[in-house]
Amino acid sequence: MRYCKTRYANRTQDDAKQLHVLIAALKIACTNGAKDILQTCRECCGGQGYLTSNLICSLRCDVEAFVTIDGDNTVLLQQVGGGVLAEFQRQYGENMGLKEKASFMGREAVRTIRERNPVKTHQISEDHLFNPEFQLAAMRYRESKQTSRLARRLQRAIKDMSFFAAWNEALMDVSSLGMSFIERCQVEYFITAIDELNDQVSSTNQQARLKHPLQMLSSLLALVRMEADPWFLASGYLSSTKHEAISDSINRLCVMLRPHALSLVQAIQLPNHLFHNTLPSLKRFSLQP
Ligand SMILES: Cc1cc2nc3c(=O)[nH]c(=O)nc-3n(C[C@H](O)[C@H](O)[C@H](O)COP(=O)(O)OP(=O)(O)OC[C@H]3O[C@@H](n4cnc5c(N)ncnc54)[C@H](O)[C@@H]3O)c2cc1C
Repeated sequence: MRYCKTRYANRTQDDAKQLHVLIAALKIACTNGAKDILQTCRECCGGQGYLTSNLICSLRCDVEAFVTIDGDNTVLLQQVGGGVLAEFQRQYGENMGLKEKASFMGREAVRTIRERNPVKTHQISEDHLFNPEFQLAAMRYRESKQTSRLARRLQRAIKDMSFFAAWNEALMDVSSLGMSFIERCQVEYFITAIDELNDQVSSTNQQARLKHPLQMLSSLLALVRMEADPWFLASGYLSSTKHEAISDSINRLCVMLRPHALSLVQAIQLPNHLFHNTLPSLKRFSLQP
């Protein structure tokens, strides 16, 4: 959100398309995320989660509308996928000379060898799985592979049909690419924000205390995404052993994060009026500021 605000504040005319894609991605991430989180909250609170006085259901009702209004998320997702593809074409499209093409293909081959070598696809130590470099490389690799695959697919298809028909046939790939872009941005900007916190040497005590839990949260986000998308297994980026290790790490991270859960929620500094009907079980933990 902060990154989008800064980009918007410093926008130029050349920036408009990229900014549109970024803001559409943010809208999808926030509204889909809120819907899923509220559903999980409702289920975690059992029957109490359904009580009107505890607000979860009415919030869920509002959020349902946000998924559709101001641009339906399914349609926006296609715009995001299309925007990523357009940027790829701008950089590596028809204007690319033979020399640049050879250099691009060389870079891609080196990247594939680096990312898909058996040592890396089988590496399962926690040091490796919790390393932001590994998590970000995985997200970037998926996005880049899906982009070039979609470009090749469309290029082949338009030999036999109109671009409109080819685009419609490829919509599932377009949406997958859109989602990969969103998830890469979430992981990348989360890691950057934590790094910036790091740089503020004289950061407040609270920030310093939360730095490690935030690093665990960012690992949790990246690993949950990697576990959920079958692309990582199907493409051979993860071996089945590494996929299993990721599931185990997710469980371990949840256990490690548990003692920090209340501090993280308190750091959001929710306003007092939101607590007037809190679930009795939460009042026990004195969540109220
Ligand atoms: C609470 C609320 C408040 C609103 N307020 C306003 C307002 O103030 N001003 C205003 O102008 N509008 C407003 N709207 C309307 C809103 O912008 C539209 O509902 C929204 O754009 C979706 O259009 P639709 O309802 O025609 O659904 P449709 O576009 O018919 O969508 C129905 C389904 O088809 C899918 N779909 C649609 N197109 C595609 C596609 N190309 N590919 C794949 N799937 C597709 C959608 O994902 C959805 O699942 C409001 C809507 C709600 C619910």
